[in-house]
Amino acid sequence: MPNFSLPDNVFEAAASRFPTPFHLYDEAGIRRKARALNAAFSWAPSFKEYFAVKALPNPHILKIFQEEGCGVDCSSECELLMAERCGFAGEEIMFSANAMPPEEFDHARALNAIINLDDMSDIDILAAHGGIPETICARFNPGGDFTLGTSIMGSPGDSKYGWTKEQLIQGMARLREMGAKRFGLHAFLASNTTDNSYYPKLAGILFELGAEVSAACGMPLAFVNLSGGVGIPYRPDQQEADIAWIGEGVRKEYTRVFGDPEKATVGIKTELGRFMTGPNGWLLTHAIHEKKIYKNYIGVDACASNLMRPAMYGAYHHIHICGKRDAQNEKVYDITGCLCENNDKFAIDRPLPEVKLGDLMVIHDTGAHGWAMGYQYNGRLRSAEILYTQDGDFRMIRRAETPEDYFATLV
Ligand SMILES: *Cc1c(COP(=O)(O)O)cnc(C)c1O
Repeated sequence: MPNFSLPDNVFEAAASRFPTPFHLYDEAGIRRKARALNAAFSWAPSFKEYFAVKALPNPHILKIFQEEGCGVDCSSECELLMAERCGFAGEEIMFSANAMPPEEFDHARALNAIINLDDMSDIDILAAHGGIPETICARFNPGGDFTLGTSIMGSPGDSKYGWTKEQLIQGMARLREMGAKRFGLHAFLASNTTDNSYYPKLAGILFELGAEVSAACGMPLAFVNLSGGVGIPYRPDQQEADIAWIGEGVRKEYTRVFGDPEKATVGIKTELGRFMTGPNGWLLTHAIHEKKIYKNYIGVDACASNLMRPAMYGAYHHIHICGKRDAQNEKVYDITGCLCENNDKFAIDRPLPEVKLGDLMVIHDTGAHGWAMGYQYNGRLRSAEILYTQDGDFRMIRRAETPEDYFATLV
């Protein structure tokens, strides 16, 4: 089933208040996700979700997560600034480094954020930019392929991230000499997977590695950060990830390696982005153009500037026409934007009911890496973001860009 968690009258009401295109986010849905995740890991010592800011970088959204007890995962100066201005501080912020300008460490250290080092060479950079903290985290890269059952889920050996195991053993010993007192481990080995066994398998790897590195370096393992990667069913025939099952799977691995979680001290952290907000966002757009050549095209008032995933990854996003949820799919269309790029298509050869000009089209699952990946190619501007509040109102939480914004950086 496609994700029909909001009825069409909500989309229609939103589109009567604000000009399309815009992203609409469901506050109640976002809170439900945060609560389900927190419940699934309520067994774990000092569990905390750090919402990956890059997925939906809007302070109003971060505030919702703050109210639900979550922290934030940042990896740039602007994301740190946003976290800071939302009132996140100290251990509520994870700062995940990755070939970044060294000064960003100074800022992260000034906020007392937990620093997640991407490479062994970052030790000296951090020592010179803010100093080595008592709690330090490092990202692990096991190399090779990462498999679940018989499927290859990712190729860490080709990925730019993380440290090797040998580096972790050496590097943690050095960090201890430089003043660190405890460490965390982080890894991100599969992206957008709805396979429930991903987190448990990753947890088992990091728990065992953490125990080994701890014994070698003499520092206690403070936490394991399972990072992001739990996915969402973009396609109607995909199963949703079962977060309660996943939490239980991680608990079993925890108990296997560390014993009773009531008595053990290793904390659990997550940095989910897509799972939290992806299904709680929709891009609303009107059909404004119809063209028939060798194929049938419907042009809409949104384009890849508003949602890049189909153009960039060939990603599937479900689309429905407001008021025609149950109508027969009697036509086949390419749904296109207006960029001078032939990959600016939200759907290719998509069976849909007949589209009439003026129809309100709803593009699903745009709540993560949607607005956030927007760009201004072709002089097209980024859209507004509207929050459908839990009391049933609509609140603009970001206005649409105007030509003045586009020209603002020119000298
Ligand atoms: C992107 C990212 C995440 C979030 O990933 P999702 O797939 O959205 O859950 C978490 N941690 C880090 C370091 C990331 O780069």
